[in-house]
Amino acid sequence: MSRIFSGIQPSGELHIGNYLGAVKNWVALQQRFESFYCIVDYHAITVEYEPALLRERTRDMAISILASGVDPERAVLFLQSAVPEHTELAWIFNTLTPLGELERQTQFKDKSSRQESIPVGLLTYPVLQAADILLYRADLVPVGEDQLQHLELSRLVARKWNARFSPEKPFFPEPKAEVTPTPRVMGLDGTAKMSKSLGNTVGLLEEPAAIWEKLKPAVTDPARVRRTDPGTPEVCNIYHLHKAFSPPETVKHVAVQCSTAGWGCIDCKKVLFESMKKELDPIRERAAEIRSNPATVDTTLRAGAEKAHAVAKETMREVKERMGFAP
Ligand code: ADP
Repeated sequence: MSRIFSGIQPSGELHIGNYLGAVKNWVALQQRFESFYCIVDYHAITVEYEPALLRERTRDMAISILASGVDPERAVLFLQSAVPEHTELAWIFNTLTPLGELERQTQFKDKSSRQESIPVGLLTYPVLQAADILLYRADLVPVGEDQLQHLELSRLVARKWNARFSPEKPFFPEPKAEVTPTPRVMGLDGTAKMSKSLGNTVGLLEEPAAIWEKLKPAVTDPARVRRTDPGTPEVCNIYHLHKAFSPPETVKHVAVQCSTAGWGCIDCKKVLFESMKKELDPIRERAAEIRSNPATVDTTLRAGAEKAHAVAKETMREVKERMGFAP
């Protein structure tokens, strides 16, 4: 069975961008693949953070992932910091990765422009990510569009390592991305992708009233100034959210109502709100259930780390042997 690996940072709440772009696919793919899903806490410390908050967010992230439908009977869910081989392999990959490749990563340029002093870890972030994926020799990585460049770097690292240390038969597969129909969810301000670090998110577990407060002022097609102005659905963020949350017949209806000015934007948002509630209410309810039984989260993560560690140890043994380290 092919393997998949994917990670998410516990740097804030799991938002609908993460859910639609990645975690929803984690749930679907766990049926067909041997799946490793990782809360990448070492990645989350590459920008300023509060230790107490990190602990809380890590637990909340695990709860959100489980509530979304990741099933610990099928998939391995674990914390990156619980498996030390991630950083061990990252060091090795650091010695193979060209500096120029890291400097030209869009996410590095973007995040470093928002930092006063730039930690080296922010630059080498994609190297740790390559280690995360290749440690499990994963073939497939379900991610959002923002990760495609990083994944290309993982492929480069795999190629370089294979060429140097395993030239006859590639030891590491070159992992491929698996994206969802919504690989890039925009924030409700319509200006940037929805991201934990930008504070423009709709939380997966947010109360309906809070979600509605965010939807009301959300940016739509700027050409619709008056209620009677017809709109262009494809340029509207709300329409794209309809495509993610509403059934196909509703999506068709929305497009007609928008382009004929049959509905005002607020009418359209009300329908979206109902669709979102339908999908998110059960997730929020499951999360509350899981939260009321915190010991199960710890047990799940511990069991996951054990399973992940067994695979990681074996990869590192082979890596070190091929690289000439004394046993
Ligand atoms: P964030 O940018 O919110 O910190 P992460 O870096 O932890 O998110 O990414 C977790 C997963 O969610 C990745 O697979 C990433 O591609 C996906 N993802 C993040 N933001 C979005 C978005 N706005 N739309 C679609 N997918 C996203």
